[in-house]
Amino acid sequence: MPLMRRQTFSQSRNIPNSRLQEAAVTLSRLWALVLRQAKQNLMLTPPAFTSPPPANKWDKRFLSLAEEVAKWSKDPSTKVGCVIVDPDTNRVMGVGYNGFPRGMCDHKELYEDRETKYSRTIHAEVNAVLNSNRTENCTAYVTAPPCTNCALTLIQSGIQRVVSVAPSRDLLSRWGESINKTKGFFAEVEVEYEEIE
Ligand SMILES: [Zn+2]
Repeated sequence: MPLMRRQTFSQSRNIPNSRLQEAAVTLSRLWALVLRQAKQNLMLTPPAFTSPPPANKWDKRFLSLAEEVAKWSKDPSTKVGCVIVDPDTNRVMGVGYNGFPRGMCDHKELYEDRETKYSRTIHAEVNAVLNSNRTENCTAYVTAPPCTNCALTLIQSGIQRVVSVAPSRDLLSRWGESINKTKGFFAEVEVEYEEIE
């Protein structure tokens, strides 16, 4: 009988039939896995003409946009811009630049007196947060490293990544200590911070 012969055959090599069956099941499972993976790979591989742009292309674009926004500031000496972006869709959630609050007098002479100016100015990052539809898990693009107060606001608003134009030597000599503190704050809460030349 064929069944008997098969049993004899496997027994002659000291391999129980149950082990052979197990091996066959494992093999067929593996084969199914290989086939499934191959099918997924085929589906996931994009055609050559749709290859994504380099990752930092969008960073550069949004930093350029932040630099454009900075020009809208009426402050004659310090112009800072901030753009908040949803990194999943690359959609702009809001923008901000340094200036006085809406409705407050913003005559030129008020910007000329340093003390008056500082006491009335809202920084670009805070304005951007206030103007944004959403900030949670977003990226903030800034034209200069945030001051410590703005860093705290960005952290509290749920920003996950901050990309800044690398500070000039002059800016570093005046604000180096504050910038280092900002970097420490971001590191403490694992907000990614990057400076781009
Ligand atoms: Zn600030």
